[in-house]
Amino acid sequence: MEAARNPLIIGAGPAGLTAALALMKRGITPRIYESSADVGGLARTPTSGDWRVDPGGHRFFTKSEEVSDVWRSLLPADQWVSVRRSSAMLVNDHLVRYPLLGRDLVTQMGLRSGIRGLASFFWPKLRNSMAPVNDSESFSDWGRRQFGRYWYELFFDGYVRKTWLTNPENLASEWANQRIKPIGWHRSREPDPLGEDAFRYPVHGPGQLWEAAAKKLADAGVDICLNCAVTKIHHTGRSWTMELQNGETVSGDAVFSSMPLRNLIDTLEPEPPHRIRATAATLRHRAVITVAVALQKRYDIPYNWVYTPGKNVRVGRIQNYGRWSSALAPADWNGTYLGLEYFTLPEDDLWVASSESLGAIVEQDLRELGVADSPLDNVIIVRSQFAYPIDDKARERGVARIRDYLRQKHPTLHPIGRNGMHRYDNQDHAMLSAMHSVSRYMGENVDPWQVNTGRSYHEAGLKN
Ligand SMILES: Cc1cc2nc3c(=O)[nH]c(=O)nc-3n(C[C@H](O)[C@H](O)[C@H](O)COP(=O)(O)OP(=O)(O)OC[C@H]3O[C@@H](n4cnc5c(N)ncnc54)[C@H](O)[C@@H]3O)c2cc1C
Repeated sequence: MEAARNPLIIGAGPAGLTAALALMKRGITPRIYESSADVGGLARTPTSGDWRVDPGGHRFFTKSEEVSDVWRSLLPADQWVSVRRSSAMLVNDHLVRYPLLGRDLVTQMGLRSGIRGLASFFWPKLRNSMAPVNDSESFSDWGRRQFGRYWYELFFDGYVRKTWLTNPENLASEWANQRIKPIGWHRSREPDPLGEDAFRYPVHGPGQLWEAAAKKLADAGVDICLNCAVTKIHHTGRSWTMELQNGETVSGDAVFSSMPLRNLIDTLEPEPPHRIRATAATLRHRAVITVAVALQKRYDIPYNWVYTPGKNVRVGRIQNYGRWSSALAPADWNGTYLGLEYFTLPEDDLWVASSESLGAIVEQDLRELGVADSPLDNVIIVRSQFAYPIDDKARERGVARIRDYLRQKHPTLHPIGRNGMHRYDNQDHAMLSAMHSVSRYMGENVDPWQVNTGRSYHEAGLKN
């Protein structure tokens, strides 16, 4: 007879909740432990009265039918809005559409700028047309090759410094092929309502979907323990025991963990070997502080994302919430609701800045953006510490070392999701890794680590 299955899940973000849904589908009831007071993880929707904040600007886009099916099953059609993707970059006081169009670059930024850009765009192409592309080229080399030095420096260099918090010379370029579209020369890229230029979005923000998932699970008898941080994970013979911050212990036959991989290794008992702990200690994250600002005045900004590479502002990207869903603001409110994203490291001053110091930075940015004359109706600050797993070639090798160790030593411990696998995953890939891990747990021969390893997933949004 098969032993009883009673798996434990760490984290009620997209990966943890998806793992639970997949287990339920197979007739297994897991238990979920979430350190925060909310479900949805990075894709939660914090609220303040009738104001809602999307901490990341979460575009629901996937090429996976499995993921689409889950999304559709959780929210009825009238709870989704279709959003036309429209991004721009604010450069030298010009809002330039993104993905970049040759036509805009040549006409919108002034004649001199257009000629300089064209010359610097075509020169390397003429010179290097036969040269093989170096597989390990840096982001800056990639950018200069793709856009020419002038446009690269105008649009991308500053943005990458601000958001990745590193010199683009030291940044690998692989992600760029997946995330940054080349300049469009031949056709006007007018939004295609059925294609990649339109995406779905829950009316009340991304958290609405994950709250619906949590409700479905709770209705089916799944225990979701909020404010239940997992502090220790012991492997005892064939089962697992987890210690929670509140002093309780819980046991199960397997663990699906979406907590940061580094923290997982730290909490494991018996302690993993020194080389694994040392590798895990090198895994780092970038954090993001989203400041939602409700300006009483209405400014007509025809974009939902505005990237701000300039040195004159500290903010890295701005979301125009009104164009995501009007229901993020109170009904009948008619101002401009923006989400200013500040990228930082958890050890940096900005991360620990008081609300007053942060407020001063935001005020200065609003002045530079030319919107400081509007009274404010509301301000909400949302901090996401483990926003971006920092990844590069060296860390990729380190993560593979940890993966191999866990697989060999602990086949019933399944790291899942963006931070669980220390990978730059969107929701759909985090979900797929959870689904595949459940299949593996059920004895199927699938490899969750193979999710999101291809280059074909094209995210045109300069997301970072
Ligand atoms: C700025 C930004 C923009 C983004 N934009 C998009 C987008 O446009 N489209 C898209 O699809 N995705 C986007 N994403 C990515 C998306 O948010 C993630 O892919 C997704 O949230 C990952 O889900 P997850 O469950 O793996 O991890 P998380 O969302 O990080 O969830 C992990 C959960 O585990 C909990 N946890 C951690 N440690 C413990 C512990 N010790 N004990 C118990 N619980 C613990 C955390 O509190 C958290 O709730 C964006 C992310 C950011 C930061």
